[in-house]
Amino acid sequence: MEDIFSFELETKSRSQMLDITVRVREALRQSETSRGTCVVYVPHTTAGITVNENADPSVVVDILEQLERLVPQGRYHHQEGNADAHIKASLMGLSQTLLVDRGDLVLGTWQGIFFCEFDGPRTRRVMVKVLPYA
Ligand code: ZN
Repeated sequence: MEDIFSFELETKSRSQMLDITVRVREALRQSETSRGTCVVYVPHTTAGITVNENADPSVVVDILEQLERLVPQGRYHHQEGNADAHIKASLMGLSQTLLVDRGDLVLGTWQGIFFCEFDGPRTRRVMVKVLPYA
Protein backbone atom coordinates (compact mmCIF):
# COMPACT_ATOMS: atom_id res chain seq x y z
CA MET A 1 0.00 0.00 0.00
CA GLU A 2 1.29 3.39 -1.01
CA ASP A 3 2.20 6.06 1.51
CA ILE A 4 0.10 8.96 2.64
CA PHE A 5 1.50 12.15 1.09
CA SER A 6 1.45 15.33 3.14
CA PHE A 7 2.55 18.94 3.11
CA GLU A 8 2.72 21.79 5.59
CA LEU A 9 1.35 25.27 5.25
CA GLU A 10 1.51 28.46 7.28
CA THR A 11 -1.68 30.36 7.85
CA LYS A 12 -1.47 34.10 8.36
CA SER A 13 -4.66 35.07 10.20
CA ARG A 14 -7.22 33.62 12.60
CA SER A 15 -9.73 32.79 9.86
CA GLN A 16 -8.50 32.20 6.35
CA MET A 17 -9.22 30.02 3.33
CA LEU A 18 -6.12 29.03 1.37
CA ASP A 19 -6.35 27.58 -2.13
CA ILE A 20 -4.31 24.36 -1.94
CA THR A 21 -5.30 22.90 -5.33
CA VAL A 22 -1.76 23.21 -6.73
CA ARG A 23 -0.27 21.62 -3.58
CA VAL A 24 -2.68 18.67 -3.81
CA ARG A 25 -1.83 18.24 -7.51
CA GLU A 26 1.88 18.18 -6.57
CA ALA A 27 1.17 15.46 -4.02
CA LEU A 28 -0.75 13.45 -6.63
CA ARG A 29 2.25 13.54 -8.97
CA GLN A 30 4.21 11.58 -6.33
CA SER A 31 1.58 8.85 -6.40
CA GLU A 32 1.81 5.78 -8.58
CA THR A 33 -1.99 5.59 -8.67
CA SER A 34 -3.33 7.40 -11.73
CA ARG A 35 -7.03 6.45 -11.42
CA GLY A 36 -9.04 6.34 -8.23
CA THR A 37 -10.25 8.55 -5.46
CA CYS A 38 -8.21 10.98 -3.47
CA VAL A 39 -8.89 11.85 0.16
CA VAL A 40 -7.64 15.27 1.24
CA TYR A 41 -7.60 15.30 5.04
CA VAL A 42 -6.58 17.69 7.82
CA PRO A 43 -5.42 16.19 11.17
CA HIS A 44 -6.68 19.20 13.12
CA THR A 45 -9.73 20.13 15.20
CA THR A 46 -9.94 23.82 14.32
CA ALA A 47 -9.38 23.65 10.55
CA GLY A 48 -11.27 22.12 7.65
CA ILE A 49 -11.27 21.36 3.95
CA THR A 50 -13.80 22.44 1.36
CA VAL A 51 -14.16 22.66 -2.40
CA ASN A 52 -15.57 25.85 -3.86
CA GLU A 53 -15.02 28.60 -6.42
CA ASN A 54 -11.44 29.78 -6.78
CA ALA A 55 -12.02 32.17 -9.69
CA ASP A 56 -13.63 35.07 -7.82
CA PRO A 57 -11.80 35.65 -4.51
CA SER A 58 -14.88 37.34 -3.01
CA VAL A 59 -16.55 33.91 -2.71
CA VAL A 60 -14.25 32.85 0.12
CA VAL A 61 -14.64 36.28 1.75
CA ASP A 62 -18.41 35.70 1.78
CA ILE A 63 -18.03 32.18 3.18
CA LEU A 64 -15.77 33.36 6.01
CA GLU A 65 -18.02 36.33 6.81
CA GLN A 66 -21.13 34.19 6.96
CA LEU A 67 -19.42 31.51 9.10
CA GLU A 68 -18.40 34.30 11.49
CA ARG A 69 -22.03 35.49 11.58
CA LEU A 70 -23.31 31.96 12.22
CA VAL A 71 -20.69 31.11 14.86
CA PRO A 72 -19.19 34.29 16.32
CA GLN A 73 -16.26 34.28 18.70
CA GLY A 74 -17.68 34.55 22.18
CA ARG A 75 -18.71 32.62 25.25
CA TYR A 76 -19.02 28.87 24.98
CA HIS A 77 -18.58 25.93 27.38
CA HIS A 78 -15.15 25.03 25.93
CA GLN A 79 -12.66 27.06 27.99
CA GLU A 80 -9.78 27.35 25.50
CA GLY A 81 -11.37 30.39 23.87
CA ASN A 82 -11.55 28.76 20.45
CA ALA A 83 -14.92 27.01 20.62
CA ASP A 84 -16.12 28.89 17.53
CA ALA A 85 -13.14 27.49 15.59
CA HIS A 86 -14.04 23.91 16.61
CA ILE A 87 -17.65 24.45 15.48
CA LYS A 88 -16.63 26.04 12.16
CA ALA A 89 -14.21 23.15 11.53
CA SER A 90 -17.02 20.66 12.00
CA LEU A 91 -19.32 22.66 9.73
CA MET A 92 -16.77 22.54 6.92
CA GLY A 93 -15.63 18.99 7.59
CA LEU A 94 -12.11 17.64 7.95
CA SER A 95 -11.80 15.96 4.56
CA GLN A 96 -12.95 15.94 0.96
CA THR A 97 -13.04 12.98 -1.41
CA LEU A 98 -12.17 13.84 -5.00
CA LEU A 99 -11.83 11.92 -8.24
CA VAL A 100 -8.45 11.25 -9.83
CA ASP A 101 -8.06 10.40 -13.49
CA ARG A 102 -4.83 10.21 -15.54
CA GLY A 103 -2.89 11.21 -12.46
CA ASP A 104 -4.75 14.47 -11.99
CA LEU A 105 -7.71 15.82 -10.06
CA VAL A 106 -11.08 15.86 -11.77
CA LEU A 107 -12.37 19.33 -10.92
CA GLY A 108 -14.92 21.61 -12.53
CA THR A 109 -13.76 24.81 -14.21
CA TRP A 110 -14.44 26.98 -11.18
CA GLN A 111 -13.58 24.50 -8.43
CA GLY A 112 -10.60 24.72 -6.13
CA ILE A 113 -9.66 22.94 -2.90
CA PHE A 114 -9.44 25.20 0.12
CA PHE A 115 -7.76 24.69 3.47
CA CYS A 116 -9.97 26.48 6.01
CA GLU A 117 -8.16 27.97 9.00
CA PHE A 118 -10.29 28.98 11.98
CA ASP A 119 -7.74 29.35 14.78
CA GLY A 120 -4.62 30.71 13.14
CA PRO A 121 -2.06 31.78 12.48
CA ARG A 122 -0.49 28.32 12.79
CA THR A 123 1.59 25.74 11.00
CA ARG A 124 -0.80 23.15 9.60
CA ARG A 125 -0.57 19.82 7.83
CA VAL A 126 -2.64 18.49 4.94
CA MET A 127 -2.64 14.78 4.09
CA VAL A 128 -3.43 13.30 0.71
CA LYS A 129 -4.17 9.61 0.13
CA VAL A 130 -4.94 8.17 -3.29
CA LEU A 131 -7.04 5.01 -3.33
CA PRO A 132 -6.99 3.07 -6.64
CA TYR A 133 -10.22 1.79 -8.14
CA ALA A 134 -10.64 -1.87 -7.29
ZN1 ZN B 1 -10.09 24.21 21.76
